[in-house]
Amino acid sequence: MTMASEKFRIDPKATEWVERGHGVFVDGELSRGSGEELAVIDPATGDRIGTVAAASIAEADRAVTAARKSFDDGRWRLMDSDQRSQVMWRLAELIARDGEALAATEVLDNGMPLPFAQWEVDAMGKWLRHFAGMTRTITGSNASQAMSSEAAEFHAYSRKEPVGVAALIVPWNAPAGNLTIKLAPALAAGCSVVIKPAEDTSVSALRIAELAKEAGVPDGVINIVTGRGHDIGAHLVGHPDVDKISFTGSTDTGRRIAASAGHDLKRVTLELGGKSPVMVFDDCDVETAIPQVAMAIFANTGQVCFAGSRLFVQSGVYDRIVEGVAEFAKGLTVGSGFEEGVLLGPLISSKQLDRVTGFLASGKQCGASVVTGGEAISGGGYFVEPTVFANVDADAQIAREEIFGPVLVANRIDDEAEMLRLANDTRYGLGAGIFTRDVGRLHRLAARLQAGNVWANCYGNVHPTLPFGGFKASGIGREMGNEGLDAFLETKSVYVDVTAR
Ligand code: NAD
Repeated sequence: MTMASEKFRIDPKATEWVERGHGVFVDGELSRGSGEELAVIDPATGDRIGTVAAASIAEADRAVTAARKSFDDGRWRLMDSDQRSQVMWRLAELIARDGEALAATEVLDNGMPLPFAQWEVDAMGKWLRHFAGMTRTITGSNASQAMSSEAAEFHAYSRKEPVGVAALIVPWNAPAGNLTIKLAPALAAGCSVVIKPAEDTSVSALRIAELAKEAGVPDGVINIVTGRGHDIGAHLVGHPDVDKISFTGSTDTGRRIAASAGHDLKRVTLELGGKSPVMVFDDCDVETAIPQVAMAIFANTGQVCFAGSRLFVQSGVYDRIVEGVAEFAKGLTVGSGFEEGVLLGPLISSKQLDRVTGFLASGKQCGASVVTGGEAISGGGYFVEPTVFANVDADAQIAREEIFGPVLVANRIDDEAEMLRLANDTRYGLGAGIFTRDVGRLHRLAARLQAGNVWANCYGNVHPTLPFGGFKASGIGREMGNEGLDAFLETKSVYVDVTAR
């Protein structure tokens, strides 16, 4: 089937999942959809390696009906919390059992380097186990004593209840991971879900649904409809039986979803784009900073929402940092994600390649200097050189817009206050990096940066105990942490006058 499977040893289960063509999982049944046929493209070659028969609108409706029914009859939300926890833990075990095949599926479908896919699969297990433990922590508060007096005695308390049917709309850049960040808290809360994977990367989601069934998630609780965003995705967002939308994707789509959800007053969580700053000070450990700054932008070929894409460096270390990052970029092995030692895979699609090369051209036109890279790589697949631009005007398109590719924009800035002003001078607010040995400065900046996640002397760490999300146009709400679970819960206050007759 694939050039990749002729060249590399790939788990045959992965190629089987890519080839089977199913695009719908409703009420525990996997089937071919009767909607559009979506091509599965290997981004490393541009070859079509499979087809997903996506869902029709009628199948999307069937998925919502199945989710609604499973929610209303309580087969999951009313299951004993310990039992639900065990089912989720079992799902984590099955993901580990099929880990190599799932990771290979991600490489085939998305193009990411195998080590990144392996990290993703490992993280999925951790997130599921974390939220499995939280099924037993869903409690309200009790105000009985505070409300009671000689005049009247109350039993007054709050309850946390699952929000209902949640539509989980997922992007292509880390397909299985982005899905699990939503699915794990949704299941822990007791919700039923309809998942819409990205049209470029549908395969791993369908396999995860099968594993969930094997783990014991009752039919109807997890449903999947593949298809395009503007029809199947938009249909789910506007569906009257969907109570909550959890979306990860571009800021433009997020805005459209927020408008629709606002009209219907649906609950919404939005994880959107970024243009995250990285600030490097003279007193940093240069040897630590160089690889961290480089991988902040080059990891997953820059297709990371919190990629550190704007670099500000003080003069004392500017040349060493910028040249060091450029050398790091030149040393990156670029190729198929299955190739040994590859850390930079292809972009997801020809569309994304056009988008990134458009930004490369714009960078050259605006007078920025190209320190390294700057070109697409010919020879098949959607590859671009890891690129560093320097001396970039703050208003240049490459300094303002999210590129979602391996393109770094570097500038020399000496004054801390000016660096902070520039770091915050963006419509986004997802991540920010600081490299300094000055602990006072580090906490001072962490408090003043307009970003949902700040990393100091490291970059890009995430952990399920801590919330992840964005300020400003990078989103609304948080995933992971207690906030990530709360996003799938409603709170109800109950007042009972126990003295009333
Ligand atoms: P996208 O917004 O085009 O698509 C994301 C998902 O939304 C896909 O499943 C798509 O089919 C669906 N969709 C598109 N239009 C829709 C509509 N009108 N109604 C409902 N669903 C719709 O984004 P993309 O190009 O797939 O992903 C890249 C973007 O995602 C980048 O901007 C990136 O920063 C962002 N992203 C953010 C995070 C985060 O956690 N903040 C994580 C990953 C990616």
